[in-house]
Amino acid sequence: MRQHAAILLLTAALFGGCCVEAPPADGTLYQTSTINALLEGVYDGDVTVMELKARGDLGLGTFNGLDGEMVVLDGEVYQVRSDGKAYLATGDMRTPFAAVTRFRPGRAHAVVGVKSFADLTGLLDAMAGSANLPCAVRIDGAFDYVKVRSVPKQMRPYPKLAEVTKTQPVFEHRGVQGTLVGFRLPTYVAGVNVPGWHLHFIDDARTVGGHLLDVRTRSAAAKVQQASALHLDLPTSRGFLQADLTGPRAKELHRVEK
Ligand SMILES: [Zn+2]
Repeated sequence: MRQHAAILLLTAALFGGCCVEAPPADGTLYQTSTINALLEGVYDGDVTVMELKARGDLGLGTFNGLDGEMVVLDGEVYQVRSDGKAYLATGDMRTPFAAVTRFRPGRAHAVVGVKSFADLTGLLDAMAGSANLPCAVRIDGAFDYVKVRSVPKQMRPYPKLAEVTKTQPVFEHRGVQGTLVGFRLPTYVAGVNVPGWHLHFIDDARTVGGHLLDVRTRSAAAKVQQASALHLDLPTSRGFLQADLTGPRAKELHRVEK
């Protein structure tokens, strides 16, 4: 059993209920390449959108050439380009970094009173169970405010991600219905993925979205699922093989995620 009484007590206390269950912990997080490779400018991968879909139906990432933010929702893969608009990705497109899971969550939790990204992640922490397992989340609802960014397609020689995000296009949406998807990763994944919460947004009409920077909710519901297995696919491209992946990059990562 991976569900511990302590987690049950903690979530029950935070939500004021007596019987809040720990999230299901039987998922597998599938990931291609590493966040440090992306930071280094390794923007071309070999996994196709079709292959990614076979690994999961919910997740996030980017596309070859750093051509926008990826949102994976209900088995569809969307590309939010640097114009902030969402397009359906085709199966032959490739990704240099993505994470997906087959999302089979527990029951929905109400998301109320969220006035910031920190508010939201605080609430999600209380429903996500032990921080030592990866956790996938999906939040559906009405959002008073969503601030997202995308990234523009890059040309070779590729600049590092921190250079690209200095001029990232940012979009604000008010009074929008939509969905947030993403993951909380344990601190020990540093270098491989993004420790903490990483969320991408797409609206109900699947027309706009991006990497979440800030949020205020009106009424929303979150579902979570923990993963007790990681499947890491590593590229064998020259770009990946020759990248310097040795140093700690926590500060650089913090800059590009905000
Ligand atoms: Zn992102």
